Amino acid sequence: MSIARYLVLILISLLAGVAVAQSELPGVFQAAPRPLPSSIQYQAGISLELYFASLTQGGSGLLRLTGGDIQSARYIFRGEEQPFFSLGDGDWHALIAVDMDAPPRSYELSVLAQRGRATVSFARDLRIESAGYILQEFELPADRAYLVDGAVEAAEFATLAALTANVSPAPLWDGAGFELPLDSPLSSPFGSFRVLNGGRETRHTGWDQLAPVGTPIRAMAAGRVVFADRLEIRGNYALIDHGLGIYSGYAHFSDLFVGAGQPVFAGQIIGSSGNTGRSSGPHLHWEIVAGGRWVDGLAFLDLWLPA
Ligand SMILES: [Zn+2]
Repeated sequence: MSIARYLVLILISLLAGVAVAQSELPGVFQAAPRPLPSSIQYQAGISLELYFASLTQGGSGLLRLTGGDIQSARYIFRGEEQPFFSLGDGDWHALIAVDMDAPPRSYELSVLAQRGRATVSFARDLRIESAGYILQEFELPADRAYLVDGAVEAAEFATLAALTANVSPAPLWDGAGFELPLDSPLSSPFGSFRVLNGGRETRHTGWDQLAPVGTPIRAMAAGRVVFADRLEIRGNYALIDHGLGIYSGYAHFSDLFVGAGQPVFAGQIIGSSGNTGRSSGPHLHWEIVAGGRWVDGLAFLDLWLPA
C-alpha cells in the first residue's frame, strides 16, 4: 500500500469517527408548535414558506403555502413535479426529498398554486449542498459473498421501488410523530459509499444501530405495514407506509411480529433485530423513503411535520 493511500484511509477513518460522533444525539420530532420558517415569499395574497435554510444531498425539507383559497398546488424541482397536500385547514404542505447523488449546485424551484382559474407562481433558487459522504470497506463472510452481486441488489431495489411508488393520499402518522426505532448508538451513517469484498461499490440507504440479536424494534411512527417478509440483502424486512409517500424500512430481523396490511401505532414492537441477509454482524439497519428516494433518516427526524 502506498503512503498516499494509507493516509487517505486514515483520513477516511477519522472522518467516519467524526460523522458518527456528531450524530450520537437522536433527532427530535418537533410535535408543536410549528417552527418559524427560514424564508417567506408573498405573491397575490399567498405566502410560500420554506422550513429549511439549505438542502443537502439526501436531505429533505418542508414547504408550506397559506392564504387565499388555494384549491391545489404543485412544485417543480430538478425536473420533477410533486403535489402539495392539504389537511383541510387551508394550509398546503409539500416535502422536497433530494437524491443522495444530486450534483451540489443551485437549482430552480417553481411553486404553482391554483386559485379558481388563476395560477399564482413562485420561483426561486435552491442550493443543494454536498453531504460529504464517507467511504467504508466491508468484508462479507464467504457464505454471504454471493450477495455482493449487483444483479441481486438491482432486483431488490426494484422490489422496494414498486412497493414505495404508492402514495397514500393522507398522512398515516399521528401527533406522536417519528422517533428512532431503538435506543442504541448509531454505528454507520446514511449515504456512505461502500466497497464490498474489495470490489463492487454501493451506497448505504439507511442508518445502522448496534443491536444484539433479539432486541425489540419499534415502528418509527404510526402507519400500515406493506411488506413483512424475507429479502436477499435486507434479510427479514418490515416496510411501513406512513402516508404521502413516506416509508420506513427495518432490516436483518431475526423475527417479524407484523404482517402486510396490518396497521401499527407509533412505538409498536414490530420485530426483533438480528443478522439476516447481507449483514456482517448483529445490528439494525433502518431507512426512510420520501418521494420515491432514500433520504437521511436522522435528518428526517428533525423535520417538523404537520399531523
Ligand atoms: Zn445499514
